[in-house]
Amino acid sequence: MSYKPNLAEDFAFSDLHCHSYCSDGELSPRHLVERAAEKGVRILALTDHDTVDGVQEARAASHDYALKLIPGVELTALWGKRVVHIVGLGFDPDNSELQAYLHDLKRLRDQRAELIAARLVKKGCPDLLEKAQQLAGEGQIGRPHFAQAMVAARVVDSPAKAFSLYLGAGKPGDIKVDWPDMAAAISCLHQAGGYAVLAHPTKYKLTFTKIREMIAAFAESGGDGVEARYPGVDPGQTRQIEIAAQRHDLLLSAGSDFHCTGFSWSELGKYPKVPNSEMHILHKLL
Ligand code: AMP
Ligand code: MN
Ligand code: MN
Ligand code: MN
Repeated sequence: MSYKPNLAEDFAFSDLHCHSYCSDGELSPRHLVERAAEKGVRILALTDHDTVDGVQEARAASHDYALKLIPGVELTALWGKRVVHIVGLGFDPDNSELQAYLHDLKRLRDQRAELIAARLVKKGCPDLLEKAQQLAGEGQIGRPHFAQAMVAARVVDSPAKAFSLYLGAGKPGDIKVDWPDMAAAISCLHQAGGYAVLAHPTKYKLTFTKIREMIAAFAESGGDGVEARYPGVDPGQTRQIEIAAQRHDLLLSAGSDFHCTGFSWSELGKYPKVPNSEMHILHKLL
């Protein structure tokens, strides 16, 4: 079985944002592809946080299904002092400058993990570093692994509580990191032959005035597209994002941001469907 393009229909069966256990997702890259195919996805981008380690396995798995795999990543970056996520799509995962860039992000994440653990100890938690590292395994370690470790240690009874009390914005475990800035992330993706997409613009706790500013800054820095459809964004917001995208000549992207089974609202392939518009980034990727 192999992927046979049918552009007229494939837009509705694409998912350009999801995670495997190479970052904070539950499934292996192979299982993720398997599940996506089961859900009817025909074009999938694996976009783990700050790593492309799962791309090769996902691509190999995609050959067993009628599914096209697009190399992806979700880069942690800064817009001024704010952390933003930039989805990279369609690059060469073996590009050496990209590899070096991701290596630096791994160092930042490993250092941050130690600081998070120490900060939580100060707040009366047990030392959760080892448990969080174990949960992350070979993958990029992140706050979700600390959330899981806190549940395992019975500090809190759910990951959501771990975020609202300890790890979320402004909480003790929200350690400031000198992530690369937006422009650096964008140019790294470009030199690796890919496209840069501003992820989930309504998920940074910003007013719409600020969101428009962020989209403008992203375009100004050379960005290519913006996610307009994803779980949690409402139709009015999508419209606003699309208008801003048009103003700044940005393409549109969409995806489920799937992390794990059991959350029906962010299932693979599940987000408001994208019309086959000329602004869709898939036109560049296929
Ligand atoms: P990190 O990149 O390590 O700072 O972690 C960010 C990740 O944590 C996001 O990609 C989400 O998967 C997860 N996350 C962020 N906020 C929350 C929250 N309030 N509840 C559960 N998970 C969250
Ligand atoms: Mn995540
Ligand atoms: Mn994100
Ligand atoms: Mn994501």
